[in-house]
Amino acid sequence: MRWTVRLEVRTSAGELKATELVTFSRPAVIGTLAEVGLLLDETKALLARLQASVLCSQVAAYAAHHWACAACGLLQPLKDRRTRRLRTLFGTVEVEAPRFKVCRCRLTTPLAEVTVSPVCALLTARCTPELERVQAELGARTSFRDAARILETLLPSSPANQEGVRNRTHAVALRLEAADRQAATEATAVRNEPDEAAAADEHRPIVMLDGAYIRAVPGHQVRNFEAVCGKVEREGQPTQRFALVRSVAEQPHALLRAALQGQGWREGDPVTAISDGDPALPALVRSATGGPVEHILDWFHLSMRARHVEQVMGGLCALEPPPLAPLEQAQIDVERLRHLLWNGYHGKAREALCRIVSGAKDATVLNEPGVEAKARRLAARCTELRGYIEGNEGALIDYGQRYRAGKPISTSRAEGTVNQLVNARMNKRRQMRWSPRGAHRVLQVRAAVLDGRFSHQAIPLAA
Ligand SMILES: [Zn+2]
Repeated sequence: MRWTVRLEVRTSAGELKATELVTFSRPAVIGTLAEVGLLLDETKALLARLQASVLCSQVAAYAAHHWACAACGLLQPLKDRRTRRLRTLFGTVEVEAPRFKVCRCRLTTPLAEVTVSPVCALLTARCTPELERVQAELGARTSFRDAARILETLLPSSPANQEGVRNRTHAVALRLEAADRQAATEATAVRNEPDEAAAADEHRPIVMLDGAYIRAVPGHQVRNFEAVCGKVEREGQPTQRFALVRSVAEQPHALLRAALQGQGWREGDPVTAISDGDPALPALVRSATGGPVEHILDWFHLSMRARHVEQVMGGLCALEPPPLAPLEQAQIDVERLRHLLWNGYHGKAREALCRIVSGAKDATVLNEPGVEAKARRLAARCTELRGYIEGNEGALIDYGQRYRAGKPISTSRAEGTVNQLVNARMNKRRQMRWSPRGAHRVLQVRAAVLDGRFSHQAIPLAA
């Protein structure tokens, strides 16, 4: 059996033209399942021919339309016929790009010769926006090499190599970032109505921030560098992720500001930020909003430090024979610690920590070296936690009350974002090393892809 695929095109003038695209054949009675239906190679060839045919006739019609002078309607003299290559998802197509001498009627100096190439003016980039978008999305989802392989396997696209995918991903990232910076400069109206302002306060956006470390390329001054990841949540809105490498982001605060604006935040609206003890994170939120920010210390990070104290105490109590010095008071204090922190009694928690430290010191003096080492560790953990509480005094709240009100108290959801944004693409296990700039750019596209913004957000075209 033989199949021939023919393409019929009817021009706007009503003319009908037919071209043969591909022909393929199979035995009349097939022998195996593998012969059933279209094969990938046949399909790729078919798509490539179809694309070339459609694209060339479109471009030819475009050139023909622009041949006539726009002012007087006379055909402009043809100077020469050049060719241009355009990369598309369905193959690279070479098109004719005729150059015309500009009609005399439009020249101010009669002897001058000006040429125009309408096709070159149409093809503003070497690849179609769709090819760029697909390459950038795949490049953000998986390694550049795998992305190139996937494209090459499934589509007749122009030989996709990893450099090509990387370059397109970077190019798209730069434009996404520029669009965010642009959005951040646009003034947002201040809410004037009191009930509007109250509603803004009730549904204030919550920014959850966390840091992640990425392995740097050899030769970089540090082994790892930090990326700030987070998400902006607001009731009734899909959450928006953002990520940046501060050392290379042109305006880090603008990226966060754009994410806030995307959630309906307006100038002067209150914002809540939840993060660990790194003071740079709430500072970033403050510079993004230019206004007051309620900063909450992440409960998860606080609770983790309390657990360290509990674990060391547990080890100390389990010793055989039990320590001689009285540790009962310290034990009671350790048991209360989490309750005090949860319910906002931070002053009392600090006092309890002081008592545990002095109890641990007594135990160090009175006991065997085995007890001594553990007691020292207990004192060290408590001092560390006390320092953490003191360093974040203003960001400690009554977690229990906030939790019962159904409001988030932890960045654990931001940590999920870190996993999705950074670890899944830049994980140490993948043996990948990044330049801060490269990582920053991939993160821009990745955040947009994971949010689902990438497929519907208009990405500004290449200039
Ligand atoms: Zn003319």
